[in-house]
Amino acid sequence: MTINNFNFAGKKAIVRVDFNVPLNEQGIITDDTRIRGALPTLKKILADGGALIIMSHMGKPKGKVKPSLSLGQIKDAVAAALGTPVQFAPDCAKAHDAAAALKQGEVLLLENLRFYPEEEGKPVGIEKDDPMYESAKKEMKERQKEFAKTLASYADCYVNDAFGTAHRKHASTAVIADYFDADHKMLGLLMEKEVQAVDNILSNIKHPFTAIMGGSKVSTKIGIIENLMDKVDNLILCGGMTYTFAKAQGGKIGNSICEDDKLELALDIIKQAKQKGVNLVLGTDCVAADNFSNDANTQVVDAKNIPDGWEGMDAGPETRKLFADAIKGAKTILWNGPAGVFEFEAFTGGSKAIAEAIADATAEGAYSLIGGGDSVACINKFGMADKVSYISTGGGALLEAIEGKVLPGVAAIKQ
Ligand code: AMP
Repeated sequence: MTINNFNFAGKKAIVRVDFNVPLNEQGIITDDTRIRGALPTLKKILADGGALIIMSHMGKPKGKVKPSLSLGQIKDAVAAALGTPVQFAPDCAKAHDAAAALKQGEVLLLENLRFYPEEEGKPVGIEKDDPMYESAKKEMKERQKEFAKTLASYADCYVNDAFGTAHRKHASTAVIADYFDADHKMLGLLMEKEVQAVDNILSNIKHPFTAIMGGSKVSTKIGIIENLMDKVDNLILCGGMTYTFAKAQGGKIGNSICEDDKLELALDIIKQAKQKGVNLVLGTDCVAADNFSNDANTQVVDAKNIPDGWEGMDAGPETRKLFADAIKGAKTILWNGPAGVFEFEAFTGGSKAIAEAIADATAEGAYSLIGGGDSVACINKFGMADKVSYISTGGGALLEAIEGKVLPGVAAIKQ
């Protein structure tokens, strides 16, 4: 079933959204992108004449009730975004009565699903090497099914619009789908858009294809780097992983971050790129700092010859030009991970150069997809969100989808 073909009139819909929004110390939302992202789906259900039960996780309470991660804090913001009052169920597993009493056009927000360990389905308080672990895991899987069944019992149909958690097989993202038949479960509009965006990158590639992978570590991106190697023409590797590559090639990297156990891997990536004819672009110079702070002293140095006591914090001017050249003229662009410690104003230059080159290429007709919290934060910070083709709400989910993995949240609906 698809959401546009389903008439929600007189129906109760339970919708998994990703309302894992950042809050400040006063519990005020600092970025409501995720709430805005789910609005088309939520509004469609209400406009049809349905009743809404909204469920989400927030943060990592690890199966315990943590008031600082209560979704009660965002109830009013959700109500304001929807333009209608929102009721709150303070215990997501004991919301039968509140759900049963919901009338057409009414909205119920459930408390943080992850206050229950059943949501993630991982056994708590037992280590993997414990002989009892396997049986604890089995027991937890049974409890997870019961939890999912309880959530399912609140509604007539299930909608998954939480792309950010689609790569997890959790009670609310996948297991719950077993309790609805194919005509009563569907992806939300945001999910449909995300799946389409990945499809544009994977099955509709127009060349040249330039992928830009940044961030702090090569180890967390290796799956996607290897997968992209068969598809891209240009592969830019930037950010903290630059220095693992520099050291692997015999460079001097001072205090720069480095994964010493990934030096062989870095050399292997260089070799693979050569074999596959991929233009691998690594930084040649960098902005180095004498400490990890915004007001550190800085100098531009050779990325393979960083003085002792200094660390690479951003791409240097020559590198920025190399990156821009590899982006210019591209017809497909994927960007995940910043080129420097962009949280500090002094080290945003490399990421900004990438964002500008992507915006220019997009204006020339490229399809550009930006994903992962940090690159999205960069694009927003530079005020360039409307100059790229698509900004994904997914980090891990996006990377896994582009690696070609089937996302459990999507599979649970489609099978
Ligand atoms: P990731 O979570 O792996 O995508 O990495 C994102 C983080 O990488 C951001 O918080 C950046 O500050 C960080 N990062 C980027 N470049 C560097 C660098 N040269 N040194 C240390 N951290 C970096």
